[in-house]
Amino acid sequence: MGVSMNIHEYQAKDLFRKFNINTSEGKVFESGKDAEDYARSLNSKEYVVKAQIHAGGRGKAGGVKLVKTPEEVGSTVQEMLGMTLVTHQTGPEGKLVNKVYVENSSIIDKEYYLSIVTDRSTEKNVIIASPEGGMDIEKVADETPEKLLTQPIDPVSGIQPFHIRKIAYFLGFNKDQTKQLGPILSGIYKLYTEMDCALVEINPLISTDEGEIKALDAKINFDDNAEFRHKEFIDLHDPTEEEPLELEAKKWGFSFVKLDGNIGCLVNGAGLAMATMDIIKFHGEEPANFLDVGGGASVEQVTQAFKMILSDQNVKAILVNIFGGIMKCDTIADGIIIAAKEVGIKVPLVVRLEGTNVELGKKILEESDLNITTADTMKDAASTVVSLI
Ligand code: GDP
Ligand code: MN
Repeated sequence: MGVSMNIHEYQAKDLFRKFNINTSEGKVFESGKDAEDYARSLNSKEYVVKAQIHAGGRGKAGGVKLVKTPEEVGSTVQEMLGMTLVTHQTGPEGKLVNKVYVENSSIIDKEYYLSIVTDRSTEKNVIIASPEGGMDIEKVADETPEKLLTQPIDPVSGIQPFHIRKIAYFLGFNKDQTKQLGPILSGIYKLYTEMDCALVEINPLISTDEGEIKALDAKINFDDNAEFRHKEFIDLHDPTEEEPLELEAKKWGFSFVKLDGNIGCLVNGAGLAMATMDIIKFHGEEPANFLDVGGGASVEQVTQAFKMILSDQNVKAILVNIFGGIMKCDTIADGIIIAAKEVGIKVPLVVRLEGTNVELGKKILEESDLNITTADTMKDAASTVVSLI
């Protein structure tokens, strides 16, 4: 599975400019002094200072500030640098601010929402638009779904004039605003498809007092699976935004995402890893992580995976769910025992093996002097691991 890759607002806005999506003039800084000089060169009546972290909700958390003078730009940037910002999207530990973006302030007439994602059920890219911008779109979807328009785009014909008219009408745009919406829609669609995005989101898209339509915020996620054809992803990637464990996982070729539950999961194959998480939830517990160790399950990989799982204090039990296809189950069983001994696992360990030589594999596990419970089915494995914590 590819986990999608986030970039910062300033990087997303650079891409917006490249794809002719209207946005304010701005630049990113790592020092207050440079930001002050830049603001002076802009010579505006008002500036916006924005902390760059991979999370939304900065506005309410003090990560977006409007100021009047270049001096204030300088001091506000300096204050934000090194700050740990806690928003409803960061988790309680917050995110460290290493970069701050400064742009010309806009006078907002109204805020809208605009995004593009892939809808797997219809296998099409869809544009999502709402006249309720600036807030959590999930909330709009829950409470006032009639204020959300979902427009599928045919991959062969792309964005058509009737799409633009329909979306503009839904947003309540006048003729001039509709004219400005055209290049924005074409731009996000082109950006989304050419750059292999998983999400392009403008929240809010605004109309200004001067009748201008522009992107006030910018969020882009790339599809990790397309990394091989985009060298530029590497430059856009900010490793300081990632969980140290997720970075470590990348080195080993694992897909790893830390979660909040108590059951550590060690699985080979993304589909099986998803199914394992689902079945744990079905039995009333939460997984501590998503972990796909890849196609094989060598001793080194399993050892490393156990170490990563156990570095999380919340883990109260581990569920290993491995399909022995390329590697035989008895080989995997030997590997699990060696790895478990090396790491010194103290929490209950439930192992479900399936595939070639499964009976032999189970026998090896059961005869070991370690505290390992074997299970025949996934359901069995999940209910056992849940009962053990
Ligand atoms: P987020 O909270 O992390 O999503 O950050 P946004 O970039 O969406 O900014 C949050 C809010 O700050 C917006 O919804 C606006 O209300 C406000 N804001 C951002 N830029 C400007 C600006 O140029 N002018 C004004 N008046 N408000 C702004
Ligand atoms: Mn926003």
